Amino acid sequence: MGQFGTEFCDHIAIARYENDAWQAPSVEPLKPLALHPAAHVFHYASTCFEGFKAYRWDDGRARIFRLHDHVARMQKSAASLRLPVPDADMLARMVMDLVAHHVDDIPLPPSSLYLRPTLIGTLENIGAAAAPSTEATLFVLASPVGDYFAGGAATLKLLVEDQRARTTEQLGSTKTGGNYAAALGPTLEAKEKYGVDQVLFCPNGDVQETGAANFLLISDHEIITKPLDSTFLHGMTRDSVLKLGADLGYKINEREFSVTELLELVKTHEAALSGTAACLAPVGTLVYNGKEIKVRDGNPGPNTEKLRKALQDIQYGLVPDRHGWLTVLDAVPVAI
Ligand SMILES: *Cc1c(COP(=O)(O)O)cnc(C)c1O
Repeated sequence: MGQFGTEFCDHIAIARYENDAWQAPSVEPLKPLALHPAAHVFHYASTCFEGFKAYRWDDGRARIFRLHDHVARMQKSAASLRLPVPDADMLARMVMDLVAHHVDDIPLPPSSLYLRPTLIGTLENIGAAAAPSTEATLFVLASPVGDYFAGGAATLKLLVEDQRARTTEQLGSTKTGGNYAAALGPTLEAKEKYGVDQVLFCPNGDVQETGAANFLLISDHEIITKPLDSTFLHGMTRDSVLKLGADLGYKINEREFSVTELLELVKTHEAALSGTAACLAPVGTLVYNGKEIKVRDGNPGPNTEKLRKALQDIQYGLVPDRHGWLTVLDAVPVAI
């Protein structure tokens, strides 16, 4: 497998919204999309996406992790961008049909099939800067991906940015392309200047998240993370880790905390980034005001490892799925 996100299955699921209705979806060979240069998405960034994984277990059947929760989040993103909202059953079915078609292409755990539903506004109108796209295309792309930790669990280094925000408050919890464009400049600047991996955005000292992952502090007893609000993306990995943490006896402390507090807390707490691609990745160093601050001793901690394993054991089929997070597909691929 190549680098994450560079290899694709040779089919996509696709559906179009036109004449005020979703047209019947289909699974089709992957090929370039024909789009009018005036398509709304190119000019006014009417786009949102999802990212989640399907796993193939020893029995040859695929399991999709938190499919319906990801579908619901995509509906929220679409609504916030005033794009046509995909019908939940339709989108879930598109994902399942595509996964069924490619079940034999899913590499075994810890590898998986990364799924990327994407919705774009296709209205041909460059005068629609302040009008929604009333036409859209929804597709699901599938990409076999390897284990993020294949090269060992190196710790991450984050720049603590206490002035600039990752994005605007009205799109903070929307999974939309513009947010990554907004975070890219500050992230590349920080990489060049401080050699960090990511920026932890903490506008006005409020510790929020990085460009594409949520942030958690973990001790032997508790997990601290910002409570859900409109400023940041509500990660499914974050939610899963909090639920498994509660099962394992950790106190779940969803609360605001400041940069000042963060710098105190990392003396005793592990720090981690959560997201579908990396699951739970340990943070070893923070950079703040030009100074490097170690998270505890700078090495990966046992609690981060324990929580990551608890989640991956469910995904890989090593322990029962007590929360009902996995959608099991029938063994027989659907006929196309
Ligand atoms: C996708 C994403 C996350 C992680 O979400 P998961 O559902 O855990 O994959 C966190 N922050 C941002 C900005 C994201 O885009």
